[in-house]
Amino acid sequence: MGETIFSKIIEREIPADIVYENDLVMAFRDINPQGPVHILIVPKEEIPTVKEIDGKKHAELLGAMFDAANEIAEKEGIAKEGFRLVFNCCDKGGQEVYHLHMHLIGGRQMMWPPG
Ligand code: 5GP
Repeated sequence: MGETIFSKIIEREIPADIVYENDLVMAFRDINPQGPVHILIVPKEEIPTVKEIDGKKHAELLGAMFDAANEIAEKEGIAKEGFRLVFNCCDKGGQEVYHLHMHLIGGRQMMWPPG
């Protein structure tokens, strides 16, 4: 049973524009996009933040998230020009939803430093 809005999307209790899914991850369009392409890549396993990631335990899951990012970027037509992948962590990192997710943002020129 889900505890965050993303768990409810994974359980299909609330709607989302889902663009990718397999046994380990789901990806859907961000409701408040920060670029022409803004997709959230979310593990089905409930991991609150990057702080709970164990490199060995979650190796397959992390690989699946990056495979999803590359596949989606290709499908969205932004692989060649480039894109940004972001994990926000906790309060100062700007995290709003405490279910691990990777932002895939592209379709425009990214700036550095980020806000
Ligand atoms: P965070 O700030 O936690 O890194 O990112 C959370 C993201 O989830 C934000 O970009 C926000 O726009 C998005 N978001 C929040 N609620 C929903 C929702 O109900 N549906 C979708 N598709 N995205 C959401």
